[in-house]
Amino acid sequence: STPAAIAAGLASGARRGLLIKGGTVLETLRLVTLVALDKTGTLTEGKPKVTDLVAFSGSEVDLLRRAAALEAGSTHPLANAILAEAEARGVVLPAVQDAGASSGEGVGGLVEGAELFLGSPRAAATRGNLTEPQRVAIERLNDDGKTVAVLLADGRVEGLIAMRDEPRADAAEGLARLAQAGIRTLMLTGDNERTARAIGGNLGIEVRAGLMPADKQRIITEQKAAGATVAKVGDGINDAPALAAADVGIAMGGGTDVALETADAAVLHGRVSDVAAMIDLSKATMRNIH
Ligand code: ADP
Ligand code: MG
Repeated sequence: STPAAIAAGLASGARRGLLIKGGTVLETLRLVTLVALDKTGTLTEGKPKVTDLVAFSGSEVDLLRRAAALEAGSTHPLANAILAEAEARGVVLPAVQDAGASSGEGVGGLVEGAELFLGSPRAAATRGNLTEPQRVAIERLNDDGKTVAVLLADGRVEGLIAMRDEPRADAAEGLARLAQAGIRTLMLTGDNERTARAIGGNLGIEVRAGLMPADKQRIITEQKAAGATVAKVGDGINDAPALAAADVGIAMGGGTDVALETADAAVLHGRVSDVAAMIDLSKATMRNIH
């Protein structure tokens, strides 16, 4: 019978790490025409590593020390990268007062009498002045697929920290499988355009970069209004509203607790190709019914 076929489909998915929350979700998956994916932690490993420390005043270690102090309270993947580098170098962190985070922009606080900000070049440019050579240095790093965090002290640019997050091993193959099934793929990222294209360029995916969390949600809503059936794949850091706005929200690699609560499904092994496998499973299950 129909419920039995759906139960069998859900069970078969669960055995392969494809968690699908109920029959309605399983039925919707076969209709998906657009898969939108986050970059950080979804198309990439989500484990960026510090590659370059560029200090414009003071030492590289002092740049790292102050940046790490600001990141101490953050769970952002870039924060983890900076804290890991500081720990590897045995850096002692100064105290931070009035620490705060601005979602999709960066972190700030008062350190040793100076008002510090660490975040995206775009967010830094609204809080201080980047010179032309500094902008060029940032673009060169971005073209290598690196994300750059800018440290400001009282609005002065103190230095740059570049990090690189490698694409997941199966990202290209997973996106190719979706394309073969006639499904559009779209990267949604808060990171800048150059880094996004450097990472996405080899993966055969449309790119929308420089997005704030609310923009991701808006784009999902627009695509649905234009007639697409949208699956959104993300780790839930900053993107729970976009997961919720999609026809099917899929949490990647287990994701955060937030993602698992908001999502309709989860890909436990963190493979992009498992998103294609989930859609295939839906099609196969529904063929058995109709
Ligand atoms: P993504 O869409 O790649 O997950 P986010 O929305 O999480 O990106 O963040 C967008 C950008 O804001 C990041 O690329 C980074 O430049 C900046 N940013 C956000 N949080 C932090 C942080 N804790 N430390 C440094 N930079 C940050
Ligand atoms: Mg994110």
